Amino acid sequence: MPGKTIMVLGGGIGGVVAANKLHHLLKNERVTLIDRKPAHSFTGSYVWILNGKRTASQVEKSLSALQKKGIGFTRGEVTAINPKAGKVDVDGKEMGYDYLVVSLGADLDPGAVPGLSRGGVNLFTTDGLTEAHRKLREFSGGRVVIAVTRMPYKCPAAPYEMAMIIDKMLRKSGVRERSEIEIVTWEPQPMPVAGPMMGRAVLSMIEPMGIKFRSGSTITAIDPEEKSVLLENDEPVPFDLLLYVPPHKCAQVVREAGLTGEGGWVPVEPGTLATSHENLYVIGDAAAIKLPNAKMLPKAGVFAHKHAETVAHEIAAAIKGKPAPKPYGGEGSCFLEVGDGTAGYARGNFYADPEPVVKAKKPGRLLHLEKVAFEKYWFWKYL
Ligand SMILES: Cc1cc2nc3c(=O)[nH]c(=O)nc-3n(C[C@H](O)[C@H](O)[C@H](O)COP(=O)(O)OP(=O)(O)OC[C@H]3O[C@@H](n4cnc5c(N)ncnc54)[C@H](O)[C@@H]3O)c2cc1C
Repeated sequence: MPGKTIMVLGGGIGGVVAANKLHHLLKNERVTLIDRKPAHSFTGSYVWILNGKRTASQVEKSLSALQKKGIGFTRGEVTAINPKAGKVDVDGKEMGYDYLVVSLGADLDPGAVPGLSRGGVNLFTTDGLTEAHRKLREFSGGRVVIAVTRMPYKCPAAPYEMAMIIDKMLRKSGVRERSEIEIVTWEPQPMPVAGPMMGRAVLSMIEPMGIKFRSGSTITAIDPEEKSVLLENDEPVPFDLLLYVPPHKCAQVVREAGLTGEGGWVPVEPGTLATSHENLYVIGDAAAIKLPNAKMLPKAGVFAHKHAETVAHEIAAAIKGKPAPKPYGGEGSCFLEVGDGTAGYARGNFYADPEPVVKAKKPGRLLHLEKVAFEKYWFWKYL
């Protein structure tokens, strides 16, 4: 069969951008995306499921929409990746590739913390967010604890955004004065990779709202009967409602393929996302990129997006025999939802040496509207 086969594993943030960009740059080659789920789910809007501004189905769109653009979509479970043979198994069927882009994200692993799923509600799935929304609407006052159970986790801004959203929800339902909101985390400051300035900026947003920040906490287990978070070297933290960020690990099939390195994620070239295997790129949450300050690049959709564009240009240049394109330079940005129709914004270069350089904008109505517009743009552009 003439032409090259470029396979994209995963139809999340990195996968849909990579497939679109590859198709755009390489009209004559075959681009096929594979995902176990029938629909793409836009996590940028997940915080709005918490406050009821969106339902889970409103932030999803069928991946079959890709087929109308000429991009192949196969729904199936990727059960094996064999880089030496240039093949993957999908639902047990072997498929060959010339170039492979792996964007299979992170598996959520609440079972790694004893008592967690029995004692709390998962803030990182649409089902969990829908349940958390219902529980918060019915909440009659008490202690809401947001437990960040393990590092690393995707979207380091999410627990802080969610705490601010919960503050607004409890104010609206009239129970804020008889409630406490506390974030329990190992992190020494909010969003540590972005530097002390960013940490102070986030604290200056949450502390005036009365949201407590308990840093340096290693969570060992949850006691669902006693309703408390058990810590390694501290007293248990009581809760009436526990909402949690679950432990993450690299997608199972990626681990089983032997692609992961130290720390359990896949080491890649920071500028190209290339792995040690020929024609195999790993992007997004699955990738491990060590920054000049020895911390790891955070796992976030914005980076998956940038990685996807980078590998598309890399692969297109290789196929067309053109010079290597400009490498990815570590730029990234994110909105920070506050919950009252305003949002903040941060932008920076995470590859900067010796530390990432990040600038933040104060929350405002316009930034929230920009985030809403970005959601519309996303579905229009990629699905
Ligand atoms: C609550 C929440 C809010 C967030 N908000 C933001 C935000 O505002 N901004 C931001 O930048 N980031 C945000 N993120 C982070 C962002 O969602 C991730 O960093 C991003 O999705 C990573 O993209 P990815 O392509 O690597 O993986 P994913 O988007 O997770 O996609 C992985 C895909 O692979 C599929 N898959 C996995 N294993 C298999 C298999 N074996 N076979 C077939 N398919 C498989 C999955 O079904 C999934 O569709 C948020 C995350 C959460 C949970």
